[in-house]
Amino acid sequence: MGNPYDWIARSLDTLHKAHWHRAVQAIDNTGPVITLAGQQLLNFASNDYLGLAGDPRLAAAAIAAVKTYGTSSTGSRLLSGHRPLHQTLEHAIAQLKQTEDALVFSSGYLANLGTIAALVGSKDLILSDQYNHSSLRNGATLSGATITEYRHCDMADLKQKLATQRDRYRRCLLLTDSVFSMDGDLCPLPTLLALAEQYECMVLVDEAHATGVLGKTGAGCVEHWHCTGRSLVQIGTLSKALGSLGGYVAGSAALIDYLRNRAATWIYTTGLSPADAAAALTAIAIVQAEPERRQRLQKNSDYLRQQLADGLGHIAAQHIGVKQLPSCSPIVCLQVQDAATVLHIGKQLKQAGIFAAVVRPPTVPTSRLRFTVMANHTSKQIETLITALTQIEG
Ligand code: PMP
Repeated sequence: MGNPYDWIARSLDTLHKAHWHRAVQAIDNTGPVITLAGQQLLNFASNDYLGLAGDPRLAAAAIAAVKTYGTSSTGSRLLSGHRPLHQTLEHAIAQLKQTEDALVFSSGYLANLGTIAALVGSKDLILSDQYNHSSLRNGATLSGATITEYRHCDMADLKQKLATQRDRYRRCLLLTDSVFSMDGDLCPLPTLLALAEQYECMVLVDEAHATGVLGKTGAGCVEHWHCTGRSLVQIGTLSKALGSLGGYVAGSAALIDYLRNRAATWIYTTGLSPADAAAALTAIAIVQAEPERRQRLQKNSDYLRQQLADGLGHIAAQHIGVKQLPSCSPIVCLQVQDAATVLHIGKQLKQAGIFAAVVRPPTVPTSRLRFTVMANHTSKQIETLITALTQIEG
């Protein structure tokens, strides 16, 4: 008899050979400048878009909540784990999103899994953008519904698939990221909602990278596209621009009441921790009171895009196949021809004092450098990134 765990080492070996193996790196702090293994680096890999994760007001709120409620919610929200803080936070999210109600989960990933699996089942159809986040794709699988992927942001392809498949199923759910996490582009939401109405479909939009970032009041992509008040299921995270941890669903009162009864990843898990709930609540108040943070973020995103476009000639001269991907968000990506090259560039950037995300298959279809800007980056820091990129050697 062989060792039943031997396959794990073989599987890891395959990952190493393909340059797909990933490992963690311990960072000592948060903000535009970080320390990693004693080296100071400019941070272009954080989801802390508004710079709130290091804000003393969030820390003070979290500490006060721990003093009042303890470190844990101690149980499922339906049993012993519900606190007044949860309710206040859910009201604040509903108010930001202009929906009837909201529900907080322990993470955005769990919010997607639980909501999708509660909305559809084996008699139903899911149509999903091919570049959707892992949590949407795994939620779809968990639901047991028939899943069809449509081409990325291709509404003609979605329409054609609806026309040929919709009739055969009971319910239909359209799934999309609002800001695509590994590209930075936006879902064409108004067209998607028109198709949903025409073919009687529910729509679930993942606002993880848009919450606090897009829209006049920071409500997200739905607000950006002037679709506030439309009937859809909005999911998001408290862990990116809101600088905390947790996920949310916002929608009608009936939807939220249904999820409290049917979403397994909400019912059978401990309620969001008091510290995380309090930090997120404070972050929402800051998002609403300080629109200048969002404006600075927008300015920095525009500057990075423009600087990258200007410097692309230099970069591409060293690395054939480098291409800037279209973006309308603080996520800006340079597609690179293969995994070995992107690793090589990532290493050189680090030597030059830049921390950027190196993303490879199977996370994405093509290897890329993923840069994210924060509201509290300076123009000089963005220029330093571009200089480092143009000096990379082949
Ligand atoms: N959706 C998208 C689009 C994401 O990028 C992420 C996080 N990477 C999630 C959901 C999951 O959110 P959380 O980190 O709160 O689990």
